[in-house]
This record gives sequence, structure tokens and C-alpha cells, in this order.
Amino acid sequence: MNSTDSADVKISNIAVLTSGGDAPGMNAAIRSVVRSAAFYKLNCFGVYRGYEGMIKGSILPLGPRSVNNIINKGGTILKSARSNEFRTKEGRKKAFANLHQKNIDALVVIGGDGSFTGGLIFQQEFGIPVIGIPGTIDNDIYGTSHTLGYDTAMNTVVEAVDKIRDTAISHNRLFFVEVMGRDAGHIALNSGIGAGAEEILIPEEDMGLDRLLESLKRSKKSGKLSSIVMVAEGDKIGKNVFELAEYIEENLPDYEVRVSVLGHMQRGGAPSCFDRVLASRMGLRAVEELRKGTSGYMVGIGDGKMILTPLEKAIKGKSKIDNELVRVSEIMRL
Ligand code: ATP
Repeated sequence: MNSTDSADVKISNIAVLTSGGDAPGMNAAIRSVVRSAAFYKLNCFGVYRGYEGMIKGSILPLGPRSVNNIINKGGTILKSARSNEFRTKEGRKKAFANLHQKNIDALVVIGGDGSFTGGLIFQQEFGIPVIGIPGTIDNDIYGTSHTLGYDTAMNTVVEAVDKIRDTAISHNRLFFVEVMGRDAGHIALNSGIGAGAEEILIPEEDMGLDRLLESLKRSKKSGKLSSIVMVAEGDKIGKNVFELAEYIEENLPDYEVRVSVLGHMQRGGAPSCFDRVLASRMGLRAVEELRKGTSGYMVGIGDGKMILTPLEKAIKGKSKIDNELVRVSEIMRL
């Protein structure tokens, strides 16, 4: 069940890092890795600022008490970064030398597909086992129904849109709400259904401007005085949210149109209970897999159970939108 399976692999020193965009639940995952390592009597190190910190040697020991009171905190205590130097062999050599100096013999990478790509290359070059934990609010990773931070981000969006709806109703306004999701519409689709959005525009489906206009006209005729249109950043129509709003305002003059871009608030905040539990499960499984000699895999969740996917597949595969949800959203907007 692993790429370098050997029953007698002895791991003594694990390092954990967070890389790429931060996501709520990363701290809970760090805590889980640290405490699971302690449970199995392994030493654990935290690498600060992702691969950049690995190259610079910003690596400090972490014990069970170093991760007190972080399960409920957004962001990442280890900080995150993007490192161009790690994309070079020279950079990775420096990173390996720093791990080697501390006798670190396994790595847990919490991040997105870019971070997994870096981890996999590193493993192939230096033979250091790597296990990935998917941490990104976009939920755009193959091999897991949920990435860390996704559930929290959806709840944040629903809460924000509930508030926007109050003002939309009071003024008979049509609101375009832009949410994160350049390549994947998971946040827009799920939180759109949860917040009762009239229209949901996602990168996976091309609704087309005309259909959007017709649909909004129909809903106006049916008696709706205000509407919410949820727009993923990468929606297929190809216009940004302000251009969309302008087009609709020109063609549907009855509506007063407003735009709200939720932006980085979607990344922050205390993780939901779901994300905290998921992070705790994933961290434990990552450590247990490293102990077993597994390397080059990502820990994910499928049908409520922890599952493993080769990093290569997690990187190359495409997370798909659930068509049942698309259907639900279409019928709910009547
Ligand atoms: P998010 O989904 O939030 O963007 P991510 O993990 O995909 O997270 P990236 O910026 O793509 O974020 O990658 C994080 C880091 O991983 C990069 O800054 C780089 O250091 C490393 N990385 C990405 N791709 C490679 C690669 N091909 N070779 C080596 N390192 C890489």
C-alpha cells in the first residue's frame, strides 16, 4: 500500500511544515502531528515558513506543550510561504542538508498541490519519506472529499451572505457576491446552496450571460424583489464580478445592483468543529503511516473514512463538482 514499503523502516525524527495558502485547521493538524509523534515516542520538529524555512534552517523542536491552545486558531503558527528557491535543485539540497543536520528522517507537508509537488520531488531526490495533508480552503485536491479549511470557509461565506441578504432585502437589491475558487467551484456551489443564492456561477459550468439574464428576469417576474448571485473567482462566463454586475444592471434596470467581494476573510477565523476533527484524524494517520514505512502518499477522507492517495495522483487528479449539488441548486432557485 505504499511506494517505498519496508516493514523495518525506523523513523525517529519527524518534521512538519505548512506551505502555500494558509487554511483554518492547519494548526489543528500541526498539533495532531506533534502529539501523535510524542505518543509514538518520536521527536518532532516544526519547519517555519514552509520550504523557505527549510532552506534557511528555521527548524525548531516541538513537544506536546508547544501546541497548547492552537486547535481553535486560524492561520498557522508555523507560518506559510511560497519559495522559488525550493523549485531549484540547489535550494532543495540546502533544505536537505538542514534536515540531515538534525537527523530528520520523515516529513509531513500540510498544503496544496504545489506543496505536494515540491514534497514529492524532494522525496525522490533525497529518499526522505513524505506524507501530505491537504490544507487549502478551495477543496481542489483529488483524493479527498474535504481539504482542511474548506468547511470553515463555507461557513464563513454563508454567515457573510446571510448578512448581505438582510441589506439586499431591505433595498430590493441584486447582490453579486464573489467567493474564492479560481479553478474549482466547491465553495461557491455549497455555500451558495447553504445561503439560498438565486444563481451560482462556477468554473466547471458555463451558464452564459444570456441564460443568467433570462433567469434573473424570470425570478423578478415570479415575485422576487432581491437576489444573491454567488460567483466563484474563476467562473466560466469569463467576466469579472464587476463587469458581470455592470452588464446585468444595463440589461435589467429594475434592479439596483451591488457587488461584494468577500476576499481574504474566507481564509481566516477559527476552524469549524469538522475541520478540527478532520485535522486531528489526518495528523495521526500521517504519523502512523510514516512509522509503517509509507511514503509519497496523501491522507484524505472518503465516505467518512481516512484514505490514502499517492501524491502523484493527488497532484494530477481533478477534484470534481458533485452534479447532484448542481441539480439541487437549480431547483432551489425557483
Ligand atoms: P494553494 O493551493 O493554497 O495555492 P499550494 O501548495 O498549491 O497551495 P503553491 O504556491 O503552488 O501552493 O506551492 C507552494 C510551494 O511548493 C511553492 O512556493 C514551492 O516552494 C513548492 N513547489 C511548488 N511546485 C514545485 C515544484 N514543481 N518543484 C519544487 N517545489 C515546488
